[in-house]
Amino acid sequence: MSTVVNLPVNNEIRATFDRVAGLVPQLAQSSAAQRVERIRRLMKATLDARPRIYEAVKKERGLTPPDVDGELVMLKMEAEHIAKHLADWMSDKPAPPSLMTLGKKCYLHYEAKGMVLVLPSWNAPYVIGFLPVLGALAAGNAVIVKPSELAAPSSKVMADIVREAFPDGEVTVVEGGVEAATGLLACPFNHIFYIGNNTVGRIIMRAAAEHFASVTLEMGGKNPSIVDASADVEDAALKTSWGRMCNAGQACIAPDYVFAHEAVFQRYVDALVKEITAMYDPRGEGFDKNPEYPRVINARHFERIKALIEDARAKGAKIVMGGEYKAEERYIAPTVITHTTPDMKIMQEEIFGPVIVVMPWRKREDVVDYIRKHDKPLASYVFARDREVWEYFLKNTTSGSMVLNHNVVQSGTNPYLPFGGVNHSGIGRLVGFNTFAECSNARTVFEEGPKVVDPRTLFPPLTDKYKKQLTQLLEGKPVPDGMVSLIDKVVRVVGVFKR
Ligand code: NAD
Repeated sequence: MSTVVNLPVNNEIRATFDRVAGLVPQLAQSSAAQRVERIRRLMKATLDARPRIYEAVKKERGLTPPDVDGELVMLKMEAEHIAKHLADWMSDKPAPPSLMTLGKKCYLHYEAKGMVLVLPSWNAPYVIGFLPVLGALAAGNAVIVKPSELAAPSSKVMADIVREAFPDGEVTVVEGGVEAATGLLACPFNHIFYIGNNTVGRIIMRAAAEHFASVTLEMGGKNPSIVDASADVEDAALKTSWGRMCNAGQACIAPDYVFAHEAVFQRYVDALVKEITAMYDPRGEGFDKNPEYPRVINARHFERIKALIEDARAKGAKIVMGGEYKAEERYIAPTVITHTTPDMKIMQEEIFGPVIVVMPWRKREDVVDYIRKHDKPLASYVFARDREVWEYFLKNTTSGSMVLNHNVVQSGTNPYLPFGGVNHSGIGRLVGFNTFAECSNARTVFEEGPKVVDPRTLFPPLTDKYKKQLTQLLEGKPVPDGMVSLIDKVVRVVGVFKR
């Protein structure tokens, strides 16, 4: 009987899997220094490939070199953070003593999971594709990456980088589309990273179940941004203009819609239009003429976003700004929409484009009610000077991350801040130690201690003394940790003499 249900086995991909899997035992035994050396190799090859990367992303989304450099800085910061901390992360982590383990040695031992699959999205392919690879290498795994076929030029560059850095195949790139991803999902990986939409996320989770592979799912959704009456409205508009329009809105943590308090609604909308214009059309020549204004990844996404805007327009929404297109360039003007209604598709789907919806609110309970009725977002934002307002939204909503008085700055800026979603927006956490932990089996280790107590006291036939001790544990007061530590030390000292 096949070990894989439903997914067709691709013999070529399976052969690649088996070849890479052959490296697992050796990689799992590698030292921190050897792993850091691999991480540095990947970083060097990536940075050396910058001219090719610039060319690829220009073709894909019309991005400029500084846009890409920003992405690569995040990757480099992550690599340096790992290099600094890996030896510590890899070291065994002792568990404090307990009454049941007096004199024993109890600790966590981090070991590689084995084979890791990375299926990244296309919207920041290098950081999204390679960041999980860094964590997987740090944890001593072998890795297969299948970059997104939607960013085909970058997929090719990533394959070249990896071939150059890993001639032995510890990291291997498999190129291709859904078929290649499906072939890979049929292989018995130990851990799968998927970064993309939650429709495919379900497919990944089902496939992973077949091999009981653990998963890290980094997905998206509709991220709310709330502007309170107490907010610095112009500052909120400035930051949201950037948060929404950079990468033409193709960022998982970009704000998708804004709830602006009715007292500041019009001021906010006007400021948004002003700031977007100042950012992307400062000379008034047209957004389409600005070489720094990005494009949508492909014709399918162009048509999808256009259809969202046109559906909203047809159903009575007000297009305050934008709503213009050039299909041949995959250009969508920065678009601000108000007067939306729940039946509009734009209110139901993640926009993932240079479009923002602004809605007024009066009662904060209504805002919370709206957010709670929808899937839990990846990110949410609050602009308020009133701390009580911020705390209200923090306590009454949930999301993978939440930011006060800014947006999109919580990712890639601090390697100690884990990144991830909740349920529909994601499972698991990335960045720094978290990626290392996702790729490791934290093995519980228990070493029997010196023979201070006869082990037979725990085995049948049980003595009355033992039964009494059990009753005391059940009915007595908890023993303070300090006391447990002290007894543990005494047991260890006695153990030395009994050895
Ligand atoms: P995508 O279409 O490029 O898919 C990502 C990977 O999944 C690719 O390797 C692709 O080949 C594979 N794939 C696609 N369909 C598949 C199928 N049917 N079976 C198996 N594999 C399949 O990515 P996308 O979904 O267009 O990416 C955009 C989404 O990603 C947005 O929802 C965005 O919010 C989300 N995103 C999330 C994060 C995060 O960190 N949380 C980061 C970036 C993007």
